[in-house]
Amino acid sequence: MLEIRLNCENCDKYLPNNSEDAMICSFECTYCKECVDKVLKNVCPNCGGGFERRPTRPKDLLKQYPPRRDKIFKPVENNPFLNNNVNKSPRER
Ligand SMILES: [Zn+2]
Ligand SMILES: [Zn+2]
Repeated sequence: MLEIRLNCENCDKYLPNNSEDAMICSFECTYCKECVDKVLKNVCPNCGGGFERRPTRPKDLLKQYPPRRDKIFKPVENNPFLNNNVNKSPRER
């Protein structure tokens, strides 16, 4: 099951379940759109993968399957995957 994380790992922006701004990698590392574009350049600093917009969980299921409660906040100082991946399409990594 997809983990809905409610904040950007880099800047701590609030990203509610229905946010248009929430982006995830295949491991559910979660960032806001602005950080993905400007800071990460679509390279996840934890795995090197690209990002896609996070789907919204239907309201009726949130009670049974709630968002993650604890916060992951880890501002990016150095992205070890950036140089090798920034010019490669995520589908080619
Ligand atoms: Zn952010
Ligand atoms: Zn990742």
